[in-house]
Amino acid sequence: MAIATTNPATGEVIKEFDPMPAEQIDAALARSVSAFRALRATTFAQRAAWLCRAAELLEADQNDLAALVTLEMGKILPAARAEVLKCAAACRFYAEHAEGFLADEQADAGAVGAARAYARYQPLGPVLAIMPWNFPLWQAMRFAAPALMAGNTGLLKHASNVPQTALYLGELFTRAGFPAGAFQTLLIGSEAVADVLSDPRVRAATLTGSEAAGRAVAARAGQALKKTVLELGGSDPFVVLPSADVDRAAQVATTARCQNNGQSCIAAKRFIVHTDVYDAFVDRFVAHMSGLRVGDPAAAGTDVGPLATRQGRSDVDALVRDAVGRGATLRCGGEPPAGPGWFYPPTVLTDVTAEMRMFAEEVFGPVAAVYRVDSYREAVALANATPFGLGANAWTSDPAEQERLITDLEAGAVFVNGMVTSYPQLPFGGIKDSGYGRELSAAGIREFCNLKTVWVG
Ligand code: NDP
Repeated sequence: MAIATTNPATGEVIKEFDPMPAEQIDAALARSVSAFRALRATTFAQRAAWLCRAAELLEADQNDLAALVTLEMGKILPAARAEVLKCAAACRFYAEHAEGFLADEQADAGAVGAARAYARYQPLGPVLAIMPWNFPLWQAMRFAAPALMAGNTGLLKHASNVPQTALYLGELFTRAGFPAGAFQTLLIGSEAVADVLSDPRVRAATLTGSEAAGRAVAARAGQALKKTVLELGGSDPFVVLPSADVDRAAQVATTARCQNNGQSCIAAKRFIVHTDVYDAFVDRFVAHMSGLRVGDPAAAGTDVGPLATRQGRSDVDALVRDAVGRGATLRCGGEPPAGPGWFYPPTVLTDVTAEMRMFAEEVFGPVAAVYRVDSYREAVALANATPFGLGANAWTSDPAEQERLITDLEAGAVFVNGMVTSYPQLPFGGIKDSGYGRELSAAGIREFCNLKTVWVG
């Protein structure tokens, strides 16, 4: 993919960038190593002060930055602004908690014949972050804030369609006071990633994106014996059982499916509804979905903007056509509008079966597949009948059923009577083909640390 800003609402190419030549990549890696030497010698308090300054800069820049994100990938302006503010909050969260998360872990010294025994978290060095366009600030920040607080340096290879957002992030931390080179953007295509990953100066990598990209990066990192964290796709279930608040579930289902114009790894994608409440849920859900306003993401009142790329829209369209061609029932949407931009309407399908591609594949757009089930067991079996295991939404007011769902759903997160979201306070990540490792919370900052065993006799 060319490195360029293209407005998804019009298809117009706004600005193109040349990929960084090899000498510049080499110089960036050298800077990352020297910045690491400087950064690891600083205190938590110093790094926290810089990170709080980064939060202030984000807040000061919020209007221009949100407009840039909307221009590059098409999310509606209020969502882009909320993303900027969420990044600022994450900076403050790690500024406040990193030292506690990385405090020495004392062991029973007597039991191991030592005078003192403990484990200490230490940074690893330069970490390569390969990031996607769908939350172009947040995905990068949830790596950057903990990494920098731990004393690691970051090299951001962002998605090729968000280069200006990537350049903003490449400057943010230096503006905030971090040593030059502590966090840099490499404007490179995905074909250049393997060499960077193999470079001995890079110590580890994190990737958020598709399963294919995850497999490629993990394979290369494996050859070089480098640790990876992978946050890949999802096809999250949204289970609605008879005791659920159906009105509320249908409302939240609409947001859970159409947030970020339907392009979120943790969007609810498969709606699994007990037959007792199926008709009531589907009626309300279809009404909400067809009531959403699709249009210019920068205009007030728009609920759903365009998909980020032409390819993304044709992928979604192909999945819907495949399902309808094999007998699924279209309850609303299903036809991309004529005219410029990569818009796709909120769409609800029922009667989806295992022969249809969308049963097993991730639909990265505002398209919901609703399934009818007759029992709790059938609901859980269908929820788990996916190669993915990122999040799961479950709706029931029965406490015993809530407990069973928490245990039975195969996912990295279960949200009961609410929608799956990421919070700095809670770990985030998946199982199965959704990847491995965790971001956010204490777990996230510890991923790229050497947990050093210390024994003093
Ligand atoms: P990709 O996985 O292709 O892109 C994500 C990042 O990985 C980008 O920086 C991309 O760079 C890079 N990348 C892609 N292939 C490789 C590779 N072989 N080696 C190293 N880096 C690579 O996502 P797409 O944008 O193409 O979206 C396709 C699908 O991926 C979506 O439909 C969705 O299913 C899933 N996806 C999931 C996301 C999530 O949040 N989990 C986010 C985005 C996509 P470049 O842009 O230069 O190709």
